[in-house]
Amino acid sequence: MKKLQMVDLRSQYLDIKAEIDKGIQEVIDSCAFINGAAVSGFQKELEQFLGVKHVIPCANGTDALQVSMMALDLKPGDEVITTSFTFIATAEVIALLKLVPVLVDVDPGTFNIDPAAIERAVTPKTKAIVPVHLFGQTAPMEEIMSIAAKHNLFVIEDNCQAIGSDYYFNDGTSKKAGTIGNIGCTSFFPSKNLGCYGDGGAIFTNDDDLAKQMRIVVNHGMTVRYYHDYIGVNSRLDSIQAAVLRVKLARLDEYASRRRRAADFYDNAFNNHPKLRVPVRYAKSSHVFHQYTLVTSGVDRKALIEYLGSKEIPAMIYYPVPMHMQKAYLDPRYKPGDFPVTEHLCETVFSLPMHTELDPEQLTYITHHVLEFLNR
Ligand SMILES: *Cc1c(COP(=O)(O)O)cnc(C)c1O
Repeated sequence: MKKLQMVDLRSQYLDIKAEIDKGIQEVIDSCAFINGAAVSGFQKELEQFLGVKHVIPCANGTDALQVSMMALDLKPGDEVITTSFTFIATAEVIALLKLVPVLVDVDPGTFNIDPAAIERAVTPKTKAIVPVHLFGQTAPMEEIMSIAAKHNLFVIEDNCQAIGSDYYFNDGTSKKAGTIGNIGCTSFFPSKNLGCYGDGGAIFTNDDDLAKQMRIVVNHGMTVRYYHDYIGVNSRLDSIQAAVLRVKLARLDEYASRRRRAADFYDNAFNNHPKLRVPVRYAKSSHVFHQYTLVTSGVDRKALIEYLGSKEIPAMIYYPVPMHMQKAYLDPRYKPGDFPVTEHLCETVFSLPMHTELDPEQLTYITHHVLEFLNR
């Protein structure tokens, strides 16, 4: 059996090696390392894939979030509502820009931000909502957009984990995750669903003015060469990374179905187990399974993960600490117990290997050992 990994980038590379090597070699031959043809080509292909007017490539997903908030001209003290159950980057950029992160709890089934809790958190100072499409499913965007419209708020989608996911509206139409709010952000970190071979990110919008402003912000706030009308940042996607992404974007839908096949296998093995809850599939979104995350009950999670480790099965906890209990983000506004769903999830979830190269032999081995531990 092939060695198990949370993400098997090497096997995936070997499968597409000829194309990847050729794409990288072309960039080296051209020496257009920054803003080369591979970057503009990838940008167009991603715009087409997402059905969005503008894609602005940048250096990573965290920058994508920061640039969005800079372009919206949010001011220190403005409140930004986001989820208490996410990767730190979401709250980090809010804090860095001296905005006030206002946390709200999540739905226990989908792990995504709870619209009713958003509504309760809106104040006259609220300027934006940042939903995170966690683990590969789009958050309830229809509800979120109507709250935003009612209170005149911006919506920035953190789509670092759900690129390619489709969101279905009540009227039967659909849109890609990240193209529904004012701005969508993604990361091309190697282990993401669309990952490059280093750091990378992108911002999406259908708004021409916002796109123009974000292109200025990522380029040192420069309007005309060496004339800086705004304080910006330097955030670019390297041409070599864009060349890798073009090869993988062409396979993104195929990759999502491979992930779903692995998830179906896990579901079949764990469904109805009294100590496990398989990931809830939200009816209004397709699931691209960035992570396969189970909720345990009555299980010594640490012992389970150690047992799996002894069988060379990696397992991870996404995420062990709720946002309001992170040391750097402790805030007198919040105390333990304020976000009971998030706190419960942090104590009970674990994630199994999830990637495009899992084969039935590996999946059988993993599920067998999880059940062996639970049933002994
Ligand atoms: C990965 C991730 C980010 C940050 O992306 P980087 O490219 O690592 O900066 C932000 N938000 C979420 C939800 C992520 O999963």
